[in-house]
Amino acid sequence: MVSYAAPLNHDPQASMSDTRSAKPPLIWTNLLMFVLTLAATVILVPWYGLTHGFSTADWCVFAVFLVANGMAITGGYHRLWAHRAYEAHWSVKLVYLVFGTMALQNSALVWCSGHRKHHLNVDDVDQDPYSARRGFWFSHIGWMLRDYPSGRPDFANIPDLRKDPMLAFQHRYYLPLVLLANFGLPLLAGIIFHDVLGMMILVGFARLVWAHHVTFFINSLAHMWGTQPYTDENSARDNPVLAVITYGEGYHNFHHIFAHDYRNGVRWWQWDPTKWMIAGLQLFGLTWRLKRTPRFQIQRACLAMQFRRAQAHLAKFPEAGPSHIEQLRTRLAHEYDSFLSALADWKRLKEEWLAEKKVDLQSRLHDIERSLSRQIRRMRLLQAQLA
Ligand SMILES: [Zn+2]
Ligand SMILES: [Zn+2]
Repeated sequence: MVSYAAPLNHDPQASMSDTRSAKPPLIWTNLLMFVLTLAATVILVPWYGLTHGFSTADWCVFAVFLVANGMAITGGYHRLWAHRAYEAHWSVKLVYLVFGTMALQNSALVWCSGHRKHHLNVDDVDQDPYSARRGFWFSHIGWMLRDYPSGRPDFANIPDLRKDPMLAFQHRYYLPLVLLANFGLPLLAGIIFHDVLGMMILVGFARLVWAHHVTFFINSLAHMWGTQPYTDENSARDNPVLAVITYGEGYHNFHHIFAHDYRNGVRWWQWDPTKWMIAGLQLFGLTWRLKRTPRFQIQRACLAMQFRRAQAHLAKFPEAGPSHIEQLRTRLAHEYDSFLSALADWKRLKEEWLAEKKVDLQSRLHDIERSLSRQIRRMRLLQAQLA
């Protein structure tokens, strides 16, 4: 989206619900940019493909820039700047800024301000800039097409980022930098590989449209389609299919409850190339202070959800239900007691550790984690019997 300012006739006293029903004015620069880039892609890609054909170099540059744009948004804009999930060397930040600018999703300052607002007010129809409660279209792209009060950036929530001179530079010269990245880089590739028009169409337009909508899916589909293993207090979902096309951001349910974790796909086997890139850069000293949620907290959230689901399911049956339901109720009560005692063990361990008693924290914590892991598996079996 192109940077935009609030219109001069905006009345700050107008109530949020009034402005919602009155439909705020269109942001023509954003609308035209989305429509024209989509039209150019839909018309020019098949035309050029059929009349001239795209070369292998065209497709390779397209793929490299597409992934670079995506990872600059997920690794840079999102996990580094919006959530401060790790620290990075200035050279990594520079690469993020070049390709993040090319992704045309506004300056990092505006993006992060909006994203922090999203996390703080998730699902709130008046405060969440891309609230999924306002429907697929709104959360996907509609929120950028009109001057909604909820979408206006408020830099009060990014005091840490405003001090960063690199981010300030990008914000200040955003438009020329966008034009340079989006026309300059495809043009340069076209000159190098002797196919300027093919590169402009594929790497200029098609890459941008794809990169846009893939990111937008995180605000729309990742709040609608998938599972909620860690929390159902907001609409965020875990979705392995979305994770594949969003460089790992599809594990959005985990992300919303543990937003400061540098991983979104927290299990080692979950597809999250962004976390692998961040951890890989750490090997070269280019990233550091990677934040990880303690395993115990993740297990606690997971089990709390499993108990809530099982209890809600069993509540549908009458008090003295069929014998197998009564057996499941007894098993659930037993599991819940053991969960509470694990929580009490953990609390005691933490208190002892805080009191600086010489406790063998690691091995006792691992014991608790191992028992919770077994319990998560037992609860899965119990849920399968309830289904
Ligand atoms: Zn979200
Ligand atoms: Zn986030």
